[in-house]
Amino acid sequence: MWKNMCIKILNGISEGVYFVDINRKINFWNQSAEKITGYKSEEVIKKYCYDNILNHVDENGLKLCINGCPLLETINDGYPRERKIYLKHKNGYRIPVIVKVVPVYEDEKIIGAVETFTDVSINKMLLKSNNDLMEKIFKDDLTNLPNRKYLNSHLDSLMTKYKSLNIVFGIMFFDIDFFKKVNDNYGHNVGDEVLKMVAMVFNNACRDNDVIGRWGGEEFIGVFENVNEEKMLQIAEKIRMLVENSEFNSEFGGIKVTISIGISLIEDDENIEELIKRADEGLYLAKNNGRNRVELKKW
Ligand code: GH3
Ligand code: MG
Ligand code: MG
Repeated sequence: MWKNMCIKILNGISEGVYFVDINRKINFWNQSAEKITGYKSEEVIKKYCYDNILNHVDENGLKLCINGCPLLETINDGYPRERKIYLKHKNGYRIPVIVKVVPVYEDEKIIGAVETFTDVSINKMLLKSNNDLMEKIFKDDLTNLPNRKYLNSHLDSLMTKYKSLNIVFGIMFFDIDFFKKVNDNYGHNVGDEVLKMVAMVFNNACRDNDVIGRWGGEEFIGVFENVNEEKMLQIAEKIRMLVENSEFNSEFGGIKVTISIGISLIEDDENIEELIKRADEGLYLAKNNGRNRVELKKW
């Protein structure tokens, strides 16, 4: 009865929770874990962490389930741990989560560990405001991201802020590498699904005030406030890495794409059009320098 009550409680909380034994075999997976990851408990229980279902990566793209698993570290040394990592949803896209790991003891011996994980993505999907009109005007139908109109109006407002308060902002121009090949190989519909998957990664990578929207086709623009060159390069590199480590699970198997990114930061005497053109020149450089990379185009 005690066990049933515990399971009920664990299923009621909003964090994902799972238990592994000393061999990292998963033997409990709560309902929030199902919701956050897309994996039902029957798909996960009796599997091992290192089967790499969740395919955790850290901010640097290090594959933790194979190399640096916090559960294994805690089982080995008994210390609790907390890390920000990115897990892979069953549909392929990356979600940022905070994982906490604590050891489980029986008779003073470690017999396994518990991991809890919290979804920390900020839902930037435009205007969850329930405002139908706003949605109609500013949301891209395919990806649910802000559309070009929204990006333009957001850029205008940041420009005003820059001029009056000197709050610097920067933009990133994203273009999917060799996207034509995805359409050619798997068809336009699958291409659309891959676009949606990349949009989910963008959406989940956004911090509170960041906006990433669809500029058109397979091109996206990100707008970032209160940044400098170093910060922009850091954010871009993270997004590049997260896309590289995501995939769309299609009937043909997992389809991966990479993106190239051009960056520019606003300068005095520059208008929005020039700022975008400069980011586009950065993108052109990134493409020419081998794709799947980030280039900052200075003033
Ligand atoms: P590159 O690395 O140089 O960017 O190569 P690329 O193949 O991605 O070249 P480009 O950016 O010029 O091509 C974009 C392709 O994206 C062509 C177009 O068919 C496809 N595309 C644009 N919008 C959509 C869309 O909404 N859905 C699908 N499925 N494909 C799209
Ligand atoms: Mg393009
Ligand atoms: Mg492209």
